[in-house]
Amino acid sequence: MADTDNPVSLIELDAVSKHYRLGDQTVRALDRLSLTVAKPGFYGIMGPSGSGKSTLLHLLAALDQPDEGTIRVAGEHLHTMQESALTAFRRKKIGIIFQQFNLIPTLSALDNVALPALLDGMPAAERTERATALLERMGLGDRMHHRPDAMSGGEQQRVAIARALLFEPQVLLADEPTGNLDSATGERILQLLGDIAREGRTVLMVTHEPTAATACGHVFLLRDGRIETELDTDGLAASELVARLQ
Ligand code: ADP
Repeated sequence: MADTDNPVSLIELDAVSKHYRLGDQTVRALDRLSLTVAKPGFYGIMGPSGSGKSTLLHLLAALDQPDEGTIRVAGEHLHTMQESALTAFRRKKIGIIFQQFNLIPTLSALDNVALPALLDGMPAAERTERATALLERMGLGDRMHHRPDAMSGGEQQRVAIARALLFEPQVLLADEPTGNLDSATGERILQLLGDIAREGRTVLMVTHEPTAATACGHVFLLRDGRIETELDTDGLAASELVARLQ
């Protein structure tokens, strides 16, 4: 169970900018963006292509550094941390899932899930036990020894979710997790992510699909590298969400 009593905001970005240089041009991918997630829950990030969604997720996952501003995730001030601490942060404090699942093709589902624990030096019996329990929870008890290429897209994404939960992170980041799935399979993944949020974790999902965003309780809309608006989505139909975000 995640620590829900932590009074510190789970995610806090203050005036974060990220620029890329392309020849003599500067692209402002994020432009003094501020955002706070104070309570666990299921949050969506929407926005047009190029509005900065991937850049934002990369910064939250400490896969990249901002040019300006401060970022705090799960109680850690990312902008002040050394590389070794950032490696531990990525492995244990957050989980991340991707549109393409990013599983290792030569490893079984069980070994994919257990890999972060192997890298962290957890004893074999404990990591197998944890990975087995998570795969069973994902409804994959009979698929543990299959490799990714013998699994459907939805099964692979559930393996990726199990891997992301191995260290019980407070924060789970998801980059278009249903983008490669048919709608029924995507719906199942959204339900799982909603269940994980209801356990007291924070799930932050980038999506361009309004139906997926309505599964979240709250949506942030990015435009030109800033949060343009945010709204609660409980009970909203996808068409209503689109209308409100325009
Ligand atoms: P989104 O995920 O919303 O489509 P991105 O975060 O990928 O947006 O990109 C935001 C802006 O930053 C875009 O204009 C994009 O072209 C630019 N950008 C992103 N990554 C790079 C990079 N590595 N080099 C140069 N420009 C980049």
